[in-house]
Amino acid sequence: MALGKDYATQECSIARALEVVGERWTLLVIRDALYGVRRYNDFLVHLGIPRAVLAARLQALTAEGILEKRRYQESPPRDEYLPTDRALALWPTLRSLGRWGREQFDEPQLRYFRHADCGTELGLYGECHRCALVVPVPDVLVDPGPGLDPNPADPISRALLKPRRLLQPFESDQV
Ligand SMILES: [Zn+2]
Repeated sequence: MALGKDYATQECSIARALEVVGERWTLLVIRDALYGVRRYNDFLVHLGIPRAVLAARLQALTAEGILEKRRYQESPPRDEYLPTDRALALWPTLRSLGRWGREQFDEPQLRYFRHADCGTELGLYGECHRCALVVPVPDVLVDPGPGLDPNPADPISRALLKPRRLLQPFESDQV
């Protein structure tokens, strides 16, 4: 019997969220969209995900209003996927989930997330203590840390070796 993805017996908002983002790869697709990945092939090479799974996740996330599909080329037809406000609203969750993963399992520091205006590393939920504000997603600077592979195979990971803001699209000459 296939494992259902809903939690019909749960009266719980976490369960409701997991019905949308709880499948394998889904949160990583959203993470990449927040990094600025927009195109199918870029998701594919950066995630190393099976094509059919990526296609299914992109379709589901579009249907849930988390990504917005936009055609950027007519011949041959090519679409890109942009994060909506519903995706941006997941940023504090991704931030705290990443911190939890690193701290609880002694992962090396792979990236720092900073407030671009002042350079302060963000708090657990994406806040800047120095400026006393929740940093808007476009003002988050992704800064490579010492644990990153300095010579990654895929072009998205290579572009992420330099500090860059969240949501900043990857230029085609970078990838
Ligand atoms: Zn700040």
